[in-house]
Amino acid sequence: MEEKISYQCVGCGYNFRRNRFESVCPFCGKKGTVQKVRPMNAIVDEIE
Ligand SMILES: [Zn+2]
Repeated sequence: MEEKISYQCVGCGYNFRRNRFESVCPFCGKKGTVQKVRPMNAIVDEIE
């Protein structure tokens, strides 16, 4: 089963999904600007 995690670049705001952490933004190419984004369904699971 493939589980992808959402990431966002704080430098340019680009959103993307990867199986593994990507330290370099695939859009602007900056390093160290990528942060993990919590998926919507995970937040719902915690509330329930
Ligand atoms: Zn970027």
